[in-house]
Amino acid sequence: MNALSIRQLRKTYKNGFEALKGIDLEVKQGDFFALLGANGAGKSTAIGIISSLVNATSGTVEIFGHNVKTASNLAKSCLGLVPQEINFNQFDTAKNIVLNQAGYYGMPRKLAVQRTEICLKQVDLWDKRDTMSRRLSGGMKRRVMIARAMVHAPKLLILDEPTAGVDIEIRRAMWKMMADVNAQGTTIILTTHYLEEAESLCRNIAIIDGGKIVEHSDMASLLSRLHIDYFVLDLAQSVITLPTLNGFTLKSLGEKIIEVGVPKELGLNDLFAQLSAANIHVTSMKNKSNRLEQLFIDLIDSKNTRENL
Ligand code: ADP
Repeated sequence: MNALSIRQLRKTYKNGFEALKGIDLEVKQGDFFALLGANGAGKSTAIGIISSLVNATSGTVEIFGHNVKTASNLAKSCLGLVPQEINFNQFDTAKNIVLNQAGYYGMPRKLAVQRTEICLKQVDLWDKRDTMSRRLSGGMKRRVMIARAMVHAPKLLILDEPTAGVDIEIRRAMWKMMADVNAQGTTIILTTHYLEEAESLCRNIAIIDGGKIVEHSDMASLLSRLHIDYFVLDLAQSVITLPTLNGFTLKSLGEKIIEVGVPKELGLNDLFAQLSAANIHVTSMKNKSNRLEQLFIDLIDSKNTRENL
């Protein structure tokens, strides 16, 4: 069954701007799905329509088979949305924020109290349940948003840039939490600017650009289409002029650091043979993330090139 099914979705805003130009998208039940796109690509417009906050111009959206227009209450009951902006009353406690949301969904009090405890524990905030949310850290506030979105046990959770602006430690903790929520059966759609986040968490991916889906596939096959791996090499001595290597691209990143692009078919032995021949000694090497980022740039570039032809 599809958690989300979108057909020929279009949105033209009142000023005539066409933000979505007929998108099709399917997300399977249980998936951890990434929706990627640069600013202005149309992600928020799509999420707005999925969550009934924005009216579509045409096309259909179904959440677990429920049409968001004709069966809006059923569709809404299946969906939890974590928006980008903190939008709860910051003078309220985490517990009340989550509890009030349960009330909004018409949950009986006893169940609401139980679900609030489960969700706050799931995001590791049970200890902070009675703290005024204004006093919580940025990462904790985001986790309150997630607990609130999960209180009615939605089968589909949409997280709109949940880790934007949080530091790497909190981001990693949130990744684990999202992976756990997904492992327990909730379908997750994530929008993010951090492509490494999508790469490490998501099984399937769509890339939206200029209101169109330019890529819709599974992460593994998408990544396997990348033909060049990038590595960062630390050198024993500084190199003033980079040599020209057959088949490899070199870029200086610092006095003793270079980046090298290695086509998959050539491999590393050939690279090191040529570096040794050029009297360049490598002391250490690491993989340069992010392969997905490179792919994203390539996709958008090739699309722009096609359009400019
Ligand atoms: P994203 O979330 O990917 O950054 P959005 O869906 O917010 O993209 O925006 C897509 C495009 O639609 C942008 O060019 C944006 O300026 C435009 N847009 C968004 N909201 C409105 C609106 N209410 N009226 C007119 N244009 C809008």
